[in-house]
Amino acid sequence: MNFDLTDEQKMLKETVRKFSEKEIAPLVEEMDREEKFIEDLWEKAKPLGTLGMGIPPEYGGMLTDYLSFGLMGEEQGRVDAGVATVFGAHSLLCANNIARNGTEQQKKKYLPILASGERRGCMGLTEPGAGSDAVSLKTRAKKVGNEYILNGTKTFISNAPIADTAVIYATLDPSLGAKGLCAFIVEKDFPGYTVGRKLSKMGLRSSPTGEIVLEDCHVPEENLLGGVEGKGLRHMFSGLDIERFMWGCLAIGIAQAAFDASVKYARQREQFGQPIFNFQMIQDKLATMLVEIEAARLLAYKGLTCWDQGKLEEARMLAAQAKLYACEMAVKVTGEAVHIHGGYGYMKEFPVEKYMRDAKVFPIGAGTTEVQKLIIARYLR
Ligand SMILES: Cc1cc2nc3c(=O)[nH]c(=O)nc-3n(C[C@H](O)[C@H](O)[C@H](O)COP(=O)(O)OP(=O)(O)OC[C@H]3O[C@@H](n4cnc5c(N)ncnc54)[C@H](O)[C@@H]3O)c2cc1C
Repeated sequence: MNFDLTDEQKMLKETVRKFSEKEIAPLVEEMDREEKFIEDLWEKAKPLGTLGMGIPPEYGGMLTDYLSFGLMGEEQGRVDAGVATVFGAHSLLCANNIARNGTEQQKKKYLPILASGERRGCMGLTEPGAGSDAVSLKTRAKKVGNEYILNGTKTFISNAPIADTAVIYATLDPSLGAKGLCAFIVEKDFPGYTVGRKLSKMGLRSSPTGEIVLEDCHVPEENLLGGVEGKGLRHMFSGLDIERFMWGCLAIGIAQAAFDASVKYARQREQFGQPIFNFQMIQDKLATMLVEIEAARLLAYKGLTCWDQGKLEEARMLAAQAKLYACEMAVKVTGEAVHIHGGYGYMKEFPVEKYMRDAKVFPIGAGTTEVQKLIIARYLR
């Protein structure tokens, strides 16, 4: 086993770290307080090329391997998981889905403008009545002439308020179950597409989340993702596998930030005439946090490496494990970080209360912890 990152991966990590610390970090508090994404960051990210992280170079992106993608998510998550979600919903959930499943015509049309950041993407799967049981979604797609007419509502959609290109899942006929599922590339300007409510959140507040309402939305037939009806489940499942790794990497980034802040604080804070770092019960917490972060990282990196090596069965199983472990770990570690900071940890002056709020969504999004356990158990049958 080789645990070394390549020179390219190290360079990418370094570049993303520098960008995140220079451009994102100074805006984190304001974005969290105001619950908004500062548009300037999008413009600044364009020349970096990372908006095209999920897109192969032949279509203008910089996708080389998925481990690199994960490393980028971890670095961004360390500074602000909300901004990492804005970039990830665009480059992974939307663009990478089109890159993996689109027709040549769809790739040529959409990927270069998504890679450059001229267009901004999102992915609409979840509905008010269909979350964990995504296959039961109700958004209807009806073929009429050379168009599909879409009707339905998507909710909890990352980037919905700011995106102009959405991959939307719908069913041709609910009675067909999984066989009726399709995905469509839907542009904001298509008649019948409305951006619904922007939703207010506990954490991840720099990531705009909202609804998409489709009322007799006209989608040209050439925008059926992959060009073949009934492939939606396959697109959905393969997308979710990669999303789980990325979500896990973001969670690892938050946990790392919470750990670093805790070590720094424990060294500075004095009680009983000495730094609280000297107390063994604090050392116990820090040691456990560190081990759990590293364990989550190894799980995620191993899974991503398997994915890159084409060992997809093993990678899928690891995606569920990495997502489950890393996201639960982040909730635990950020909670411990608040505790190590004592009363100050509960105050907004220190970053750890935000890390804790941000971390809480990770065991929910991209398939809850319970769903990951069901997936793992399915592999054990
Ligand atoms: C901030 C945020 C961003 C998101 N971004 C997107 C996005 O960009 N695109 C998108 O399509 N979706 C997005 N989602 C939706 C997300 O994927 C869903 O919230 C998630 O899949 C859970 O669905 P639900 O919220 O409907 O919960 P439910 O499915 O209603 O689950 C409620 C509870 O029941 C449990 N449960 C459900 N079924 C079972 C079972 N069989 N066994 C045991 N327990 C079960 C769950 O684990 C959970 O604890 C986002 C969500 C959030 C919070």
